[in-house]
Amino acid sequence: MIVTKQKTLEDIIKKIKGSTFIFGCGICSDTSRTGGPKEVEAMRKILENNSIKVNGTYIIDAMCHLQKVKKAVRDNEESIKLSESVLVLSCGSGVQSAVSSLSSVDKTKKVISGVDTMFIGNIESLSSLKEMCSLCGECVLNETAGICPVTLCPKGLLNGPCGGMKNYKCEVDENLDCAWVKIYERSLVQNSLEDIKKIASPKDYSVKQPVGAIKFKGSH
Ligand code: SF4
Ligand code: SF4
Repeated sequence: MIVTKQKTLEDIIKKIKGSTFIFGCGICSDTSRTGGPKEVEAMRKILENNSIKVNGTYIIDAMCHLQKVKKAVRDNEESIKLSESVLVLSCGSGVQSAVSSLSSVDKTKKVISGVDTMFIGNIESLSSLKEMCSLCGECVLNETAGICPVTLCPKGLLNGPCGGMKNYKCEVDENLDCAWVKIYERSLVQNSLEDIKKIASPKDYSVKQPVGAIKFKGSH
């Protein structure tokens, strides 16, 4: 899931001119506690306490789903038309779903992002999200016993450990286990040490260039 954190209220409020409509996201932003039903309702109250009229709110179960956002915009067209801006409490992908969907209704409608997009996170518990993949576009997990050095080693080393590892802990943050010790230990029990004995080539960061879109053949 995509992990987000709320922008400061000061930053949000200074961007809103006039009245607004709030969209939330019922999956990732709800889990991140930045744009689910509770946060959208709390934001509505805060804005109204700051003399900003809120003409309506709506939670879409996935703000990254363009077709659902387009339908939500159609379903709330009257309230959105009354609003000078639309505040979106979801990741940057969701904000741009709103921009794209609102363009067909009113290109002048200002879309405001209420959160910062942080990382793709694994859900450890209801109150803990952990970054385990940085979406590098060239996955090395098959060579590193299924543990990501790009994300879990603060230096992103593809050949480790570095000289700073001490007592199996990371030199950048002694509270962290060294990712490369974990990779070594797992490679050992999996009998795949040969994989990490090979020197890994520098990553091809050109694959991180935006791809635009991927189209699948057929349907589910
Ligand atoms: S190497 Fe790490 S950052 Fe890259 S795709 Fe694999 S898990 Fe994600
Ligand atoms: S100690 Fe380990 S995890 Fe920390 S930077 Fe060095 S190789 Fe990476």
